[in-house]
Amino acid sequence: MIPERLAFIDLETTGANPVRDRITEIGVVEVDGDRVTTWNTLVNPGRPIPEFIQQLTGIRNEMVAGAPSFAEVAEELTARLQGRLFIAHNARFDYGFVKNEYQRLGERFRADVLCTVRLSRRLFPQSPRHNLDSLIVRHGLQPNDRHRALADADLLWQLWRVLQREPGEAALAEAVQQQLQRPILPPHLDPALLEDLPESPGVYLFHGEDDALLYVGKSVNLRQRVLSHFAADTRAYKEMRLAQEVRRIDWHETVGELGALLLESRLVKEGQPIHNRRLRRAADLCAWRLEEVAPGDFRPHLVSGEEAGFGGAGELFGLFATRREATTVLRKIAEAHQLCPVILGLEKPAQPGRPCFAHQVHKCKGACVGKEAIGLHSARLMAALAKLKLEAWPWPGPIGLVERDDFMDVEEIHVVDGWRYLGTAKSDADIHDLLEQASTAQFDRDTYKLIRSHLGKGKLKVRRF
Ligand SMILES: [Zn+2]
Repeated sequence: MIPERLAFIDLETTGANPVRDRITEIGVVEVDGDRVTTWNTLVNPGRPIPEFIQQLTGIRNEMVAGAPSFAEVAEELTARLQGRLFIAHNARFDYGFVKNEYQRLGERFRADVLCTVRLSRRLFPQSPRHNLDSLIVRHGLQPNDRHRALADADLLWQLWRVLQREPGEAALAEAVQQQLQRPILPPHLDPALLEDLPESPGVYLFHGEDDALLYVGKSVNLRQRVLSHFAADTRAYKEMRLAQEVRRIDWHETVGELGALLLESRLVKEGQPIHNRRLRRAADLCAWRLEEVAPGDFRPHLVSGEEAGFGGAGELFGLFATRREATTVLRKIAEAHQLCPVILGLEKPAQPGRPCFAHQVHKCKGACVGKEAIGLHSARLMAALAKLKLEAWPWPGPIGLVERDDFMDVEEIHVVDGWRYLGTAKSDADIHDLLEQASTAQFDRDTYKLIRSHLGKGKLKVRRF
């Protein structure tokens, strides 16, 4: 069950960012059954190595000055890794660096990847630590030159041999299999999909016969999420039908989660996919607005999403999918707070001078017959509605919510005005275009909630225009 051809890999680099930093050393232990080959090379990163990293690894600038560049070793590395399981400790790091180095050369690199941190966590779930130093102690590994590429790659090979004995081949194979699990794609899909799906955040679209839009979904890991739809253990009827119907999959990568959520919400509304739960359109939305009909006398009026112009909303409450929902909620609030349903407009008034029915059963404090001052009733109504109050747009104009991925060194700016999502920009020219078309953007509840909650977290930088 475990692939025959293995490559234990370790890299040294100029830093932790696979986009900005470069490889300074590669160590590979190739294993084919009983045959073990090692390979080690310094790599000239084409830039200075920070002092603290020189100290950590012992790889100094003068050592790599005469070493080959990555471009010069790429061909040999390809030959050594081709068709092998790529095994590394915290493999996302090493795999990310190797992929990026090839990308700079205009080449693609892909391998089946096995992470020994995940492997260790799986096999020894009771152990709190799985870094290399902890594994050396726990399993009695013999380090010969910590923080040099080949020495660390060799530690992984030592670890592998320990695991073959304890917990043994069968348990090891099962843990490896669990990481490598490749789903069987539905027959109509192009197998190249497995190679192409990125592991980045974004939105994916399933198309069926005649290119009908079946489903729109989002994830912080497109590859994982899309493939999970086809996992062999999925027995859910809905998933099975989707897998049978899908003919083509599209995706849009985003920098982060908010971008994916906003795009998903927009694409679902625009495309009305067959298998998504239908989301309400803006026109159906409504909210209560308090209007002062006489001094101190506030009465609720139902206003539609469009009418309310939620952008500048001052005293709006709720945001309901339907008028019926709005009425039901107000009725419950009235009962809970002994407010008068007649004053609130929920019921027709009884005969003049007669209290409402609610008052007769002690559910209204009697504002309808002057037993409660109307000003007091209004004040209690406002307090009761407070929790439902819609937040007014806190800026004088549009803003950009900046979503950054430092690891990949990319950013996107989500342009929002009055809670309305205008679109996502990657440049100042994009921002300009979006602001020009601002008037066509609709207010909707999902976007309002998404943006409000992300603003509340305070993690995104806000850019004013
Ligand atoms: Zn009453």
